[in-house]
Amino acid sequence: MASAGERPYLNLIGGEWGPATGGATTADRNPARTDEVLATFPSAGREDAARAAEAAAKAFPGWAATPMPKRGDILRKAADLFEQRLDVVAEALTREEGKTLGESKGEVARGVSLLRYYSGEALQPTGDVYPSASPSTFLYAERVPLGPVALITPWNFPVAIPTWKVAPALAFGNTVVFKPAELTPLTAWHLTDVLDKAGLPPGVLNLVVGRGSQIGPALVESPPIKAISFTGSNAVGSRLAAQCAERGIKFQLEMGGKNPVVVLNDADLEKAVELTIQGAMLSTGQKCTATSRVIVHRDVLSGFRDRLAARASSLKVGDGMKADTYMGPLVSADAEKTVLEYIEVGKTEGAKLIAGGTKLVGGDYDRGYFVAPTVFDRVRPDMRIAQEEIFGPVVAVIEARDFEEAVTLANDTRFGLSASVVTRDLGLALRFIREIQAGIVHVNSQTAGAEPQVPFGGFKGSSSGTREQGKAAREFFTQIKTVYLDPP
Ligand code: ADP
Repeated sequence: MASAGERPYLNLIGGEWGPATGGATTADRNPARTDEVLATFPSAGREDAARAAEAAAKAFPGWAATPMPKRGDILRKAADLFEQRLDVVAEALTREEGKTLGESKGEVARGVSLLRYYSGEALQPTGDVYPSASPSTFLYAERVPLGPVALITPWNFPVAIPTWKVAPALAFGNTVVFKPAELTPLTAWHLTDVLDKAGLPPGVLNLVVGRGSQIGPALVESPPIKAISFTGSNAVGSRLAAQCAERGIKFQLEMGGKNPVVVLNDADLEKAVELTIQGAMLSTGQKCTATSRVIVHRDVLSGFRDRLAARASSLKVGDGMKADTYMGPLVSADAEKTVLEYIEVGKTEGAKLIAGGTKLVGGDYDRGYFVAPTVFDRVRPDMRIAQEEIFGPVVAVIEARDFEEAVTLANDTRFGLSASVVTRDLGLALRFIREIQAGIVHVNSQTAGAEPQVPFGGFKGSSSGTREQGKAAREFFTQIKTVYLDPP
């Protein structure tokens, strides 16, 4: 149960914390120690989703009419409360998702920054004044809220992603139904709890914990819901997009990646290895911006590959709560199964395993979902391991004969979220920036990482073309009302 003085781990609908209709519950488990149950949460269904949407609809007129600076004050207060709770939430994050405590602290700190950023955004202009052809007309365009919105989020960044959706949705006057991933309800509960304690009126933010396959469709079909913001798999995202299009509501999707690091022949190889390892192995490779391909200039291939294999094999894998752990477990049995299957696919396709490739067993490893950091060499671009998102600690080394081929290979994917180039040549870096088809480009830094104040999102199959974070969030969470105001 929740600690003393805290609310119980329940859904929040219309300002009331309560169980799922029918009383179903689900256990929140630690992927590093699957015998450890962190908490029990409701397993809500369609009826709860519909009630949450109704509650958000009821609260909408009052929240939309609340002055924006006042909304910003509540977000700022939530940021302070979240910051005071940083260590508690970070530990919850490591214990329910598996990433290391250091990464978890960074993620919660990012959640705090996002809340602060959007509290400041609530003091920014909400529109533009235009010159009118008529001398008497005051012509302006104002950004107004959409209405009740549904936010469907994944387990891999269970603090940062919900925060970068919830905070702008609220700042711009929308009310929210928040549907976190089934695997990470505890962090979702903390975020909801601090916003509730910061003074959100009842129904402005509703939390529904339960199965996506039940709640997702119920939310999309729910008449009060005016927009969906989703981060997750392409399979679910494209289905949601079709349903939203059918209903004529706005949607935003952030989905998979197959992000490349391109290592050119003038690169500092030590640095290139470190960036590849960070991008591929931190968070156990479970980031949409994780590095999953490293495309290496032929001249430096052998030196790079040997260093990469050695570094991957040296990483300490274990419980993320331990100070010396570099890489934690995979999030679930399903995730582990998928990753191990892809490793088999890679071997069958003829790629050469040069590090890892196995489930880790013995001692504490037997209690969780641990897979060794894995590097495949001699990967051809048409192999499944070079094309499909694996979402685990697996990186594919692909040889390129020159810069041109490296860029062609980097772009040879249906995804386009993030990409990185390692080089000392400014001219080639600039060409890479121009020619790469990715929403986020790094030069001499790893593929992962996103600051709150800049747009985040992908090209091609990685995204619906919309962007999140920074000013971009305003585009999604508002609609424009153009006003021609003339004297009577
Ligand atoms: P992953 O688990 O790989 O991150 P998913 O797309 O399965 O990706 O999950 C992302 C989010 O979408 C989760 O909150 C999940 O519960 C939710 N979800 C799953 N199935 C559906 C669905 N049919 N409709 C809407 N949301 C769903």
